[in-house]
Order: sequence, then structure tokens, then C-alpha cells
Amino acid sequence: MLNPQRSFVRPLLAWHEANGRHQLPWRDPDRSAFEILVAEILLQRTTAASVAGAYLPVIARYPSPEAVVAAHPEAIERRIAPLGLAKRAEFICRSAERLLARHSGDVPHRYEDLLGLHGVGAYTARSVLIHAFDEDIAAVDTNVRRLISRFFDVPPDSRALARLADALAPSQRGSEFQHAMLDFAADVCTASTPKCETCRLMEHCQSSGHAD
Ligand code: SF4
Repeated sequence: MLNPQRSFVRPLLAWHEANGRHQLPWRDPDRSAFEILVAEILLQRTTAASVAGAYLPVIARYPSPEAVVAAHPEAIERRIAPLGLAKRAEFICRSAERLLARHSGDVPHRYEDLLGLHGVGAYTARSVLIHAFDEDIAAVDTNVRRLISRFFDVPPDSRALARLADALAPSQRGSEFQHAMLDFAADVCTASTPKCETCRLMEHCQSSGHAD
């Protein structure tokens, strides 16, 4: 019988230790919850490579909700203009206002409170809980869905997949596991050309060699 921790989680974490994108600036373990929230908003529908160049200047200038609210929205918009998604400036400004008005300037721990922030949906809220508050859950985007669906042969849009993803998240290492799934899906278990021949998960993968 397949042991998911032994066949999937541990090899994935081992792969990530050697090959993960540890240098991405929002993955610095010393990042504040607010800095993580800003990163997650900027990363929505945008590649990590695009956000990497814009993130540090934004965080250096606006490290807190107070700094965001004190700034002109146009100034923030100009800083993230290279991402081509000016809407993010509005999300960041309105979220900062709400943090100050409802949460004493702190990023809330509760999922429902995070969903109340402007521009924060289920995936972003889960990512913040994982990376800022060490919650042992998973955030399922297109890449994570593809990887889990292929490995365990579960339908990609099923509730079972979301439940399985949460159950896989290892205690105390939820953030690392999330990063591992994202990086592995982007580098190895890719959408069009999965590298099954050299994949560390191949032995137990239910789709090895015939992933679509
Ligand atoms: S064996 Fe292929 S389909 Fe399975 S996880 Fe690895 S790359 Fe993905």
C-alpha cells in the first residue's frame, strides 16, 4: 500500500533541498506576515521571475500597513508597474487600510478574516496561513493540482484532491512543502513535457510515462 509520506512528501522535500528556488526574496524566513501578504498579492497570475525584480523595492519602501496608507496610491502603482498589473496597487492599499481599521495593523490568523482583505481569495489566504503562520495545510494552484492529480491519479478538480493536499502537508514543514510542490511542478512535472525518466517520484507515480 502506498505510503504518501514515504513515496511523495519525503522525496519531494529532498529534491527541494537540493534544487528549490530558495533565493526568491519572499521566501526569506525572516519576512513579516505583511511582507508575505504583499508577495502573495503580487504573485497572483504573475510569474515568480517577474515579481522577483519588483518585490524588494516595494517592501523596502512600504514595509508595513502604516507605510502603505501614508503613501500616495499612484506612487505604489508606479513601483509595481513593471509587472503590468496596476490593480495590485489598489489591492495592497485597500488591504492595508483594512488591516489598520479591523486588525490593529496585524495580518490576521483566521482564514475568514484574510478573505475579507481586498484582492485576497482562497489560494492567497491559504498561502499566507502557510508561510506566515506555519499552518500545516496546502494551497492548490494549477501547478500543484497537476502534480497531485498525476501522482495519485485523482481528478484535478475534485474535492478529494484538495483534502489530500492538506493531509499531505507535513507537520512543522508546511511552508517548505508548499514551495517544494510549486518548484517541482514548475521544473520537473511540467504541463507539457514532464521529465518522468529522471523524476524522483517516478517509482510510485500513477501517471509516470503517460502524463497528459
Ligand atoms: S513521474 Fe512524471 S508525471 Fe509522475 S510526478 Fe514525476 S514528472 Fe510528474
